[in-house]
Formats: sequence, structure tokens, C-alpha cells
Amino acid sequence: MARRVACGLWLAMLLLAAPPVLAETEPATTPSPVAPACHAHSDADVPLAAMLAPGRVWDCNGGGWDDSAPVSWLYFDAASWAGSAPQAFFTRISRFERIDIAAVDRGGAVRRAAHDERSARPIAAGPVFTLPVPAITEATEAVVVRIAGPHSSTMVTEARLTSDPESTDWGMEEVLLLAIVAGILVTPLIFDLHFFVILRDRFVLLHAAMVVAMIAYVILAGGLAPLLFDISLVTMAIGAPLAWTIGVAAASFFMVAFLEQEALSPLFRRAMQAMGWWSLFGLSFFGLQFRWTQGFDNLGYFLGFVPVILVYLACLTQAVLRGSRSARFLAIAWVPILAASTERLLRGIGVYAGPSTLDELIYLALALEVMIVALGVADRFVAIRRERDRAVAAALRLSDLSERDPLTGLMNRRAIDLRFGELRASGYEALAVFDLDHFKAVNDAHGHEVGDRVLVTVAQVLRSDPDAFAVRIGGEEFVLTLRGDDIETRVERLRQKIPVKVAREIEALDTMVTASVGLVTAQHESVQDMTFILLYRRADALLYEAKAKGRNMLCSETIDGAARANRPMRASSR
Ligand code: GH3
Ligand code: MG
Ligand code: MG
Repeated sequence: MARRVACGLWLAMLLLAAPPVLAETEPATTPSPVAPACHAHSDADVPLAAMLAPGRVWDCNGGGWDDSAPVSWLYFDAASWAGSAPQAFFTRISRFERIDIAAVDRGGAVRRAAHDERSARPIAAGPVFTLPVPAITEATEAVVVRIAGPHSSTMVTEARLTSDPESTDWGMEEVLLLAIVAGILVTPLIFDLHFFVILRDRFVLLHAAMVVAMIAYVILAGGLAPLLFDISLVTMAIGAPLAWTIGVAAASFFMVAFLEQEALSPLFRRAMQAMGWWSLFGLSFFGLQFRWTQGFDNLGYFLGFVPVILVYLACLTQAVLRGSRSARFLAIAWVPILAASTERLLRGIGVYAGPSTLDELIYLALALEVMIVALGVADRFVAIRRERDRAVAAALRLSDLSERDPLTGLMNRRAIDLRFGELRASGYEALAVFDLDHFKAVNDAHGHEVGDRVLVTVAQVLRSDPDAFAVRIGGEEFVLTLRGDDIETRVERLRQKIPVKVAREIEALDTMVTASVGLVTAQHESVQDMTFILLYRRADALLYEAKAKGRNMLCSETIDGAARANRPMRASSR
């Protein structure tokens, strides 16, 4: 069932990604997107004219990006689009205050378009959005884009113009890869739910929470979301970092719950937990990208992961060094994702402006991580299950031992005390007490060991009636609880079988070992509630009677509701 659901979801993901993939197979004639020739930063109040005035410093060498500046300027030179006029501006999704796009003609004419977050449209290919560019003419010299309040460096470094608004440099292969990764992530989720039903362990739920957050991250950050839903830029811009920080928080709490108790020292355990809360509230706060945090939220968000990465590494190292089996799964799973996150972090804080296709490393590492951790969860599941089974088996064995007589293997007094009510309810209506005659003499003449063998043989005889529950009540005395027809005949047959079987089994004996029996039958409804001890006392009295009458005989009595006692006894002997 689980596998079928997983396959279904997989297929659904693939199908959703399929139409654009097929469309992409047509020969691509559109020119590739145009990168800005130069860029600059300024305060909020510097107008376009001032930026274009001579003496203004533009960086045309690719470096010097600063996402914390209030305004970033991009200069696209007409020479770079060589005849195919750009129609749209596109860049990586994150929040911003305002984007002004100006087509500047030779001679000074300027056509402008101003956009806010609400007019930006996430495109159904990659984590990007587009904005229309004002009309480009033969006279157009440049397109200048002013981004006010950008909340990420990639929003500035990866901004492009394109002549085809539907075509970005995000290939459909990436979208397909994302669909596959999202599909892969669904499978462990189903396993988690199964494990939780059986195990009820918190770490399984935390793993599921982590996986759900990571699926949301892949869909939002990778740009699958616009393919699946009608989604606004703000939702995507905030959703992706939030999904990631929630996933990291879940992963931190998961690590604490998942690792064996002795794998982490209390200090490391607390540090890991603190990273969970930090991620949930501190890092998520930066992810919200408020207008007033624009100057520092990108740096805060990425630098905020540094302690998380360090604590993860420290905890994993400690747990592995302490011999934790679960930590080894986490180490294998998390090393690629820690490496990919570190790369993303360095790019995020602007150490270098690598292509954003490097993000795919994170998605791949993520899929790998979730699958390996799922294996670790399965491994832990099996171990916990085995531990519990072993504990249950040990408890059963103990309780069995406490209810069994070690010499004969019959149940003991405790067992009959515990089960008598149950036996009565299932029709066991008679109780017989067997006591060997002059057994002391057997011991005296042949030794204790032979006496023991006699007891074992007697137990075998008493066990042979399938409708009798045999108990060694103490010494050489046995109790038989019986149900079915001809109880008295069956008891008498067993009694007579004892000397025969004992003589056959134990050749050293030169005397017959006989038994005396007291038997009560209480079958009437009104005596159903008679306790073991009451019936036993009556049977014991009958046994005493048999002994008194010369031993090697059975004395029996049937108790009905009216009399409950004092019915004449019948003795039989041979
Ligand atoms: P009676 O016919 O009156 O029952 O005589 P008896 O000798 O059987 O009765 P008594 O109660 O005097 O002696 C019981 C003997 O059972 C005493 C003891 O040596 C023996 N006995 C009790 N438990 C064990 C046991 O576990 N192993 C062996 N070998 N002997 C036992
Ligand atoms: Mg005896
Ligand atoms: Mg006795």
C-alpha cells in the first residue's frame, strides 16, 4: 500500500514536470539572457540622471557586489543584445522594495516602468521572477535597472534581461531534477508514518517533520511551486528560507531524540537543542525579510548558520567517537549537505558569485541525506523493535519460570492460583489431589535421586490427559484440574497408570509406587464461584480419607448447589 502511494506521488511529480520538459525539446532559437555590463550601489535618494552623469563610479569588472546597500543599479549595454531587443527582466526570487526599469535612448529620452513585489511574477521555471521591460527602440543605448531594498545578493548578481519572457537560463532539466528529488523525499515520509504507528517514538515524527519541511523547501526554493500552484513572489521569497529553517530545527531536535542516550554529552545535547530553537526563531526571523532588516538580513541569515553547522559537526564527531551506530548514518547523510550548505553560505554572503545552478548540489545532497537518514531510522527501528521483543521474551520467560516447577516441568502452585478462575470459566469442573504413598520410604531405600526420577515419571503420567491441567503443588503431591466426560474414570486410570509406568521407567525399584487421590467435582452453576482453596481443601480431605482407608485408592465426591458438602464419599482401590 505504502509503496503504491509512493509510486503514485512519484508519477504525479514527474507528470507535472513533463509538459515543459517536452516543450524544451524543440530547437531553442532564443538568444541567451543578457548580463549587466556594470553595476553600482547608492543611497535611496540618488536619481537615475545622477547615476548616468559623468564621474559616477560603476563597477564593470564583475566584483564589488553589496546586497546590504539601500539601492543596487544594473547597467545593461545595448551592444550586448545584438538586435534581439530584451522584453523582460528576470532575477532570483527574494523580497525587494521597488524595481525601476529604464530604457535610456541616445539623446536622453527615457522610458520607465516601476514595479513592486506584487507586480512581480514568479516564472514557472526555476526560482526566478520576471518584470516587463519598457519599449526598446533602435535609439536605445542601455537599460538601467534600479533595485531598491534587495534582500539577497543573488537577486543582484543573477539579474538578467531576456528577449523571451518565458525563457530563463534555468533549464527544464533542473526542474525535472527537482521533481525527482521531491518524489524521492515522499518515500521516507511514508516509511516514517508506518514506523510511527508501530514504534510511537518521537524521533520518527521529527524526521517526518524534517522531510516535509525539506519537500516544501525543494518546491519553493527550486522554483517548482509556480508549476504546481498560483503563488506570489512574497510567498515564495519567504516560504523557501522558512521551510529551510524549520527543516534545520526539526533536524536538530531529531538528532537529539534519535541518537542513543549515551551518544551525546548533556552539554552537546543542550547545544544541539539550542540550535533547533535558534533556527526556528532567529534564522526564521531573517528569512521573513522585513523592510527594516534589509541592510543585514541576508548576512544575518547566512552567518546565522555558522554556529548551526559547527554544532552539528561537533555533535556528530562526539557521537561517532562514542561509538554511536545511529550517528554513523547521520554523519554519512549530513556531510554532503553540510558541505553544500557551506558552499551556499559562502555564495550567500558574497564571498564569490558562483552560478546559482550550484544550488542543485543542495537538492541532491538533500535527497541523499533524507534517504540515508531514513535508512538510519529503519536501522534504529529494527534495533528498538528487537530490543523490545527481547525484553518481552525475557519477561515471558521469567513469568513462565516463576510459574513452573523446575524438576518435573509441571506448573506450580502460583500458576494454578493465577489461572484457576480462567480454568473454571472454561469448564474445568473437577479437582483431584494425588499424593504418593509411603514416598519417604522410596527416598530412604533408593536415595533422593531415584525419588526425583519417580516424581518426573508421575508428572509424565499426569500430563498425558489432554483435558487436565496438572500442577506439582509441593513435595510428592500433585493437583489435577479436569474437564470433560468420565472424569472419575479418567482420574482413576491415571492413578493406576502411576505404578505401572514408574516400574517400567525405574528398574532399580523393588516396590510398587502407588498413589492416593482425593477428587471433587463441582459442576453445578451455583458452585461455579468456589475458589481453588475451597475445592483443594475438600479434595485434600478426601485424600486424607483415602490414606486413612489404607492408601492406593481414590475417594471422590460431587458437590452440587444444594449440599455444597457432606455427600457420601466413594472409595475405590485395587
Ligand atoms: P504418605 O503415604 O502418608 O503420603 O507417606 P509419605 O512418606 O509419602 O509422606 P510424607 O509426607 O511423610 O513424606 C513425603 C516425602 O516426600 C518426604 C520427602 O523425602 C519426599 N519428598 C518431598 N519432595 C521431594 C523431592 O523433591 N524429591 C524427592 N526425591 N523427595 C521428595
Ligand atoms: Mg505421600
Ligand atoms: Mg505428602
